[in-house]
Amino acid sequence: MCVSRFIPLSFVIFAVLIFYRMNTGLVSENKASAAIPANIVMSGIRSTGFLHLGNYFGAIRNYVKMQESYECYFMVADLHSLTTHPDTKELRQNVHRVLAENIACGLNPDKAAIFCQSHVFETSELYLYLNMLAYKGELEKTVTFKEKARENPNNVNAGLLTYPVLQAADILLHRAVYVPVGKDQEQHLEMARNFANRFNHRYGEVFPEPVAFNFSEELIKIPSLDGTGKMSKSVNQNATLYLSDDDDTIRKKVMKAKTDGGPTQENSIKPDYIENIFLLLKLVSDEGFVKQQEEAYNNCSIRYGDLKKQLAEDMVNFISPIREKTSEILNDEKYLEQVMKKGAEKARESAGKTMGIVRQAMGLNYF
Ligand code: ADP
Repeated sequence: MCVSRFIPLSFVIFAVLIFYRMNTGLVSENKASAAIPANIVMSGIRSTGFLHLGNYFGAIRNYVKMQESYECYFMVADLHSLTTHPDTKELRQNVHRVLAENIACGLNPDKAAIFCQSHVFETSELYLYLNMLAYKGELEKTVTFKEKARENPNNVNAGLLTYPVLQAADILLHRAVYVPVGKDQEQHLEMARNFANRFNHRYGEVFPEPVAFNFSEELIKIPSLDGTGKMSKSVNQNATLYLSDDDDTIRKKVMKAKTDGGPTQENSIKPDYIENIFLLLKLVSDEGFVKQQEEAYNNCSIRYGDLKKQLAEDMVNFISPIREKTSEILNDEKYLEQVMKKGAEKARESAGKTMGIVRQAMGLNYF
């Protein structure tokens, strides 16, 4: 009886001691800092040109929502740009533009760390370690690598091959769990999970498994207006709506979007290029108008000219405030520099912590 009383009491004392020491940082400091945080968000956009509707709806729209309730790291991926755009003459200007466009869309430097990839030197160190865990065969099979190598056969460099490793380093450097990206990034995210798991398996649990994120149920792909692929910074420019396009250019591009003579049978399935137009309509137009157009399609009374005219006006209303805000921000270089500095400080603090854990896990802490 005496023993059974003694055991619970000693257990309570022991638990209180541990609790006290953990809270004062006296024990398990490494363990405590190595605990994987659950609410970190990371993503980036390359500085390879003007941002477009795909960047907005695939990525930035989610960034803006997530900055309200998560710890967010958003960067301009200038190092990634070098894999396909080695000429750095326009880099500074492009970095400023991407930053300004992100802010004009609603990103807030007081809420999220907004920074430039090359300012966070720790990225390159983690990239090196992760490269040892990435296999040539899997990198060569990556769809984006094959595409880019085909588009640019004279510059199939190692940076292009290891693009997904650098991307994994960007994400894992902050031990991010959520990565708001468009559908085109799904494979890269799967690779980031593989690298994280390989690292954890070899050196101990350090990284979470990052997942691609979109507030709607599915990742999104904004199609180009000619129905041949996705909107993009560098290809399909006439069929891409840029956040910097002037009103007339927007109208012209939308009016040229691919359509046909209209359905001839009630309730028929929409061809891809018509489905694409409805997708754009749902993003920027009034719900009532979309419903009315769906009905018109189903009873074969749809007039694509009228539909496109309304879509063009709704696009103008959506894009023009962003364009105007961007040019205001671009005029204030000092402000952009401050944003980058502040973002880099925050990102480097987080990166420094992770790299401490990484080096220790790998046994690289010799003194
Ligand atoms: P780009 O392909 O235009 O050069 P990036 O590679 O810099 O753009 O991608 C930046 C972000 O924008 C990524 O999250 C990517 O998934 C998203 N994105 C790019 N194009 C589209 C698109 N057409 N639809 C949806 N998301 C897109």
